[in-house]
Amino acid sequence: MKEIDLIKQLSTSFGPSGMEDDVVSVVKEEVSSFMDCKEDTMRNLIMHRKKETGKLHIHLDAHGDEVGFIIQAIKPNGLLRFLPLGGWICENVAAQKVWIKNREGKLVEGVVCSKPPHFTKKEERHKHLDFEDLLIDVGASSKEEVINEYGISIGSFAVPAVSCSYDEKHEMFLGKAFDCRIGCAALIQTLKDLEKKEIGKTISASISAQEEVGERGMKSVMQQIKPDLMICFEGCPADDTFEEEYMIQSALKKGPMLRHFDVSMITHPRFQRFALEIAKKYNIPVQESVRRGGGTNGGISHTCNIPTIVIGIPTRYAHTFYSYTSMQDYKHAVLLAEKIIEELNEKIYSEF
Ligand SMILES: [Zn+2]
Repeated sequence: MKEIDLIKQLSTSFGPSGMEDDVVSVVKEEVSSFMDCKEDTMRNLIMHRKKETGKLHIHLDAHGDEVGFIIQAIKPNGLLRFLPLGGWICENVAAQKVWIKNREGKLVEGVVCSKPPHFTKKEERHKHLDFEDLLIDVGASSKEEVINEYGISIGSFAVPAVSCSYDEKHEMFLGKAFDCRIGCAALIQTLKDLEKKEIGKTISASISAQEEVGERGMKSVMQQIKPDLMICFEGCPADDTFEEEYMIQSALKKGPMLRHFDVSMITHPRFQRFALEIAKKYNIPVQESVRRGGGTNGGISHTCNIPTIVIGIPTRYAHTFYSYTSMQDYKHAVLLAEKIIEELNEKIYSEF
């Protein structure tokens, strides 16, 4: 599939933590001709290059899941109580449209209902929202209707109902779930490009499950694969719309972000320095960051004796319904990963 169409499809795909199946099928379709693919019981997609060519083993990862919701209970009037999967700000969820996957695997539209202004009291308008205050309405009028007609039950999964679009002139995507679908796209493209070259290394990859609920998929992946090094692709939150100039570390169109620190990992300083040197050598724009929050699958892999770097593709308004990401940053992320992989060798690795 063409890159733009693939990114659009990955972004639009239904894949909250724990229900990544659709994302896994899209990725498999793209790479199974040259990668051996297997899914584990958590729906981690684990891939190995069919042509194995070297001793040094590099693993690439991007997580397949997105922040979403799970139905907790159905009220007698047909409204659905739900809980967040991953980090959400409640105010961003109210009055939005969602897709719920029903028992037949079909997507049912619903809205997060809110009281019209006509009925809200003054004190209600300034109230801080909680998930207990929010309900999803699928247009039904009773619990039985929800279960029997709509095929929705407790435990059904939901995501923002947002289809991705592309602005060709400005090379910008607008859609949901670029954390981490833009990373999934970068991983796929990197694998495709490497396939055309003789790189003399062993390459494996994963589209890991359940990152957004505590890097759970990666814990399983690490029990199955023992690479020497890992490169983690991420859709990282952009900060250029609210930070002061001197604090901006992940602006759109300024290149992928290489983080030195977040709450899950102090990035391996020598691997990180090597990545920064490669960026300089090939004139690839990059942004360095020290994140006060955040966490990635690198948080798991680096504690398994695997030097890890994270290549983040900035995405504005991550963990909301609508986000922007740029084609340029995506392309630079792919190029950076490829050059790092090409230039790495056993001697450099031994010095890490
Ligand atoms: Zn992520």
